[in-house]
Amino acid sequence: MIHFIDLKKQQKKIRQNIDKRISKVLNHGKYIMGPEVFELEERLAEYVGSKYCVSCSSGTDALLMSLMALGVGRGDAVITTTYSYFATAEVICFLGAEPVFVDIYPETFNMDPKYLEDAIKDAKNKNLIPKGLISVDLFGLPARYRIIEKIAAENNLFVLEDAAQSFGASIKMKKTCSFGHVAATSFFPAKPLGCYGDGGAIFTDDEKLAEKLKSIRVHGSGKNKYENIRIGLNGRLDTMQAAILLEKLSLFDSELTLRQKIAEYYLDNISDELTKPYIPKNYKSSWAQFSLRAKSEHERVRLTKKLALNNIPYMIYYEKPMHLQPAMESIGYKEGSSPISEGISNLIFSIPMHPYLTKEMQNFIIEKINE
Ligand SMILES: *Cc1c(COP(=O)(O)O)cnc(C)c1O
Repeated sequence: MIHFIDLKKQQKKIRQNIDKRISKVLNHGKYIMGPEVFELEERLAEYVGSKYCVSCSSGTDALLMSLMALGVGRGDAVITTTYSYFATAEVICFLGAEPVFVDIYPETFNMDPKYLEDAIKDAKNKNLIPKGLISVDLFGLPARYRIIEKIAAENNLFVLEDAAQSFGASIKMKKTCSFGHVAATSFFPAKPLGCYGDGGAIFTDDEKLAEKLKSIRVHGSGKNKYENIRIGLNGRLDTMQAAILLEKLSLFDSELTLRQKIAEYYLDNISDELTKPYIPKNYKSSWAQFSLRAKSEHERVRLTKKLALNNIPYMIYYEKPMHLQPAMESIGYKEGSSPISEGISNLIFSIPMHPYLTKEMQNFIIEKINE
């Protein structure tokens, strides 16, 4: 049986060690901020090449806490892509700020920086203060940081990297979660590095920001837990999840290699009738998703029906770009405002991608798509 993402096979490989780690936590009993949390933060910071790592309760909270630490609030605008999981824009609205959406590159599905200057103007025209931007590394591919960071610097904007899907990816030798001023990732089970529940992490080289994030994580704590110097939340990562992640991290690089091999095999063998993922030179994806584009909406219906008929799972990321979500209606974006992402949402579909797809499974999927 082909799974869209297979967490069982991975667990089988490391189950004994995970049991050992969990039982260690049960023995020491430090369920909140136990030693595994700090060990994980050190290992993650080292892996990413970032000075500080602050683990937290989810990818959404990683984004939210970052915006809180950067002082985003009412009257501010934060620029972001139309094409992402809803959490990316949701956190902006949650703080009373307003998202300003920019369209994407049709080849990579990531934010196209050529729209940034106009977005800054749009924000000012609405009497909002453009504070920063959230770029997303969609499906595991890093956004175009060289240009994004340059435009952000020229306009005094912060860059928050939403690396929820891209842990392990890189541009040249620089890993995701190390771009921008601060980066957020997710350990939701289906992400490239997932735990067995909710979890996330924030990365930065800025010591002051890291200290603020640690304070926000525990109700805005000051010298101790019972002195509150700002409004925060309960945003901690469970010790149990940290223990599980430590074990999964030891397997992670070998899994990335397997994903890369499968992606290359897909790229080489899937028919050119479909538009396949484009990976720019010097970029490495973590292949959170392998997404194809059909020629027409009708063609997508035909193809996905065929996949379903053959018990090949597929997903559509995303049926609706964020600016057209009903929850965003009051902001006033209309259909046609971001034509590239709107068009792609009608054509895109993702096929099974995980390290444990056998050659046989890969061949079967390719055969059914090409038929
Ligand atoms: C999954 C995801 C998030 C949210 O992460 P959670 O851990 O589910 O809260 C945010 N942004 C993107 C791009 C995601 O894919």
